[in-house]
Amino acid sequence: MEKSCLTFGTMNKSIDILKTPIEYLKGVGPKKGDLLRKELNIHTFGDLLYHFPFRYIDRTKFFSIGSLHAQSGTVQLKGVLRRLDIVGEGRRRRMTGRFRDATGAIDLVWFTGIHWLEKALVVGQEYVLFGKVTSFKHKLNIAHPELEAVNANNVKKAATFSPVYPSTEKLTSKGLDAKGQRQLVQVLFEKLQPEHLPENLPRDIIEKYRFPNHFEVLRQIHFPESEREMKMAIARLKYEELFFLQLRLLQLKGRRKAALKGFIFEKVGDNFHRFYKEKLPFDLTNAQKRVVKEIRNDLRKGTQMNRLLQGDVGSGKTIVALLCMLIAMDNGFQSCMMAPTEILAKQHYTSISKYVEGLDIKVDFLSGSIKGKKRKEVLARLESGETQIIIGTHALIEDKVIFNNLGLSITDEQHRFGVAQRARLWKKSKPYPPHVLVMTATPIPRTLAMTLYGDLDVSVIDELPPGRKEVETVHRTEYHRLRVIGFMREQIKKGRQIYVVYPLIEESEKLDLNNLEEGYEALSREFPKPEYQISVVHGKMKAADKEREMQRFVRGETQIMVATTVIEVGVNVPNATVMVIENTERFGLSQLHQLRGRVGRGGEQSYCILMTGYKLSAEGKERIQTMVRTNNGFEIAEADLKLRGPGDIEGTRQSGVLDLKLVDLAKDGKILQAARDAAVEILQKDPEMKQPEHAMVRIFMERYLKPLKGWSLIG
Ligand code: ADP
Ligand code: MG
Repeated sequence: MEKSCLTFGTMNKSIDILKTPIEYLKGVGPKKGDLLRKELNIHTFGDLLYHFPFRYIDRTKFFSIGSLHAQSGTVQLKGVLRRLDIVGEGRRRRMTGRFRDATGAIDLVWFTGIHWLEKALVVGQEYVLFGKVTSFKHKLNIAHPELEAVNANNVKKAATFSPVYPSTEKLTSKGLDAKGQRQLVQVLFEKLQPEHLPENLPRDIIEKYRFPNHFEVLRQIHFPESEREMKMAIARLKYEELFFLQLRLLQLKGRRKAALKGFIFEKVGDNFHRFYKEKLPFDLTNAQKRVVKEIRNDLRKGTQMNRLLQGDVGSGKTIVALLCMLIAMDNGFQSCMMAPTEILAKQHYTSISKYVEGLDIKVDFLSGSIKGKKRKEVLARLESGETQIIIGTHALIEDKVIFNNLGLSITDEQHRFGVAQRARLWKKSKPYPPHVLVMTATPIPRTLAMTLYGDLDVSVIDELPPGRKEVETVHRTEYHRLRVIGFMREQIKKGRQIYVVYPLIEESEKLDLNNLEEGYEALSREFPKPEYQISVVHGKMKAADKEREMQRFVRGETQIMVATTVIEVGVNVPNATVMVIENTERFGLSQLHQLRGRVGRGGEQSYCILMTGYKLSAEGKERIQTMVRTNNGFEIAEADLKLRGPGDIEGTRQSGVLDLKLVDLAKDGKILQAARDAAVEILQKDPEMKQPEHAMVRIFMERYLKPLKGWSLIG
């Protein structure tokens, strides 16, 4: 009892101080307050406290000016400011200075904030200087150095690390550069007492990792007294960042599950068993078996399934989808399967119809191209319940499409369906929404999936069917062009087909087209009619024309398909064994991987030829080496994450999830896993975190963290 009163007392105090508007901090005021809000999103004392340095200057070392050179980097000097002059006019206006110690002198220059600095700096004064040495016209100088007058205080503190905060030109011009910000944080810490920052992590976690306490850690991330302190502070705050995010994601997931009731598919019956015994043309891989089991468990729980199925191209997602649809059927429900393009939907329709041939199962197809009487018939069969499985495009979610009893919805390629479309689909079944399975062939690194889809159930097919030959991948330049052409001829002679892909440049569709047209003409000379036939598909073509060209290639009437990346998604032409990618350096890794996945779908050895110019950026080289080295989509996704950072990974762009302050998902996978495990354990024991040993976690979340809404619900 007494204890909880105490907590309550400190709680009030900390609400007061951390929620205080930033302008009330000594040295801020309304104008700077506005600037901090606009430029750094700092509204309160608490925001400033969580505005972390992005690096530190080692203040344990002083350099002598005489020893500096162009590669010295960021240095700390002690010396006297000798001169200050304002030179130039208008945009060329700048302030120069000269800084001297016993060993020499160096030029200083400022381009912004001159007005303020001119007043603040004193010629003849002794300063501690931080700055980055650069070489300008063969002379060394330091632009925008930070100068701090030498006094007892900074000399005493010299043996520590000095935080550097992100700044902007506007901030700098108002005295809120790294140094100005550092002073604000110092002022803040003069006000803060340990009781303002009560512990927010459970004791067992703190003990396990020997973390410093909450107050200490926040002081140490701003003002570490040793490298050890700095590292420990960063480690704990990274952990906190992930721990609280995972807790919220998992809580959201739990609450949603409790709220979203679903149909119960109790049994696995005749349709499933007959298919499995009589029709399944191969053994399932262990990964496929595991995933079917996971889905099967979801379907009988009485809550709506929301599951993401990740599996590399060729990993065999279609059969998993079919098995699930058969379970729906066994329980008297209809299923639908949607694909983003007509071609892809048609392919699913064809392969699924073939799988269930001879079984008493009605599979139907619907897309925009099914019109008139035929459409009416499809819709009537669906509404009457005659159709058990329907496969199609977005056309399936139109309001006119009425199901008899939709129980399961499967979509291929998740990022192509929006929130509004999902809502329309959900309205198609009563009283519950259908179970939802979303399949994606874009492998996402585990760390990213745990964050992006942390509130979803995720299944992964991480194993390819046996006997699959790896696509042999090589890097070639113009120099090898003739040999590449010769190789293509050889393959065509063997009866195989070839893709030649050109990049799509968003800024200049015209340039694309030129590129592709030139390429097409060159190829037409090398592969003349009538011996050879070439298909062309690009984004500027009418849908019907595209479709016709694709179909010619699918039917084997053309040997070469010249295309922009429109063929990226899902097309299946098992006879195509060569993928030539032009201007490979313009493609991202995941796109390259998707493209390569178009070949190697039949029994023959397949090849991927990556054509580039002679000059490549370091990153471009790395991408190509990665492609040549591995066929594994998850490995490629990891490499992509390392190269580009999480913000650029496909499908993550719109989601605000990756707004992490300290964590780097490419590097902090271990911390993430540990934090997620801890969060799972707590929620299992104490879902609402009501027990005293978890109360601090709940209080911190309620007070400081905004709830996550509609995070990544799929379907
Ligand atoms: P994706 O995951 O890219 O959609 P598909 O479902 O199209 O992959 O499967 C690719 C190919 O692999 C198909 O021809 C399919 O018949 C075959 N396949 C799927 N599972 C197995 C398996 N367990 N053993 C052998 N072949 C399989
Ligand atoms: Mg597929």
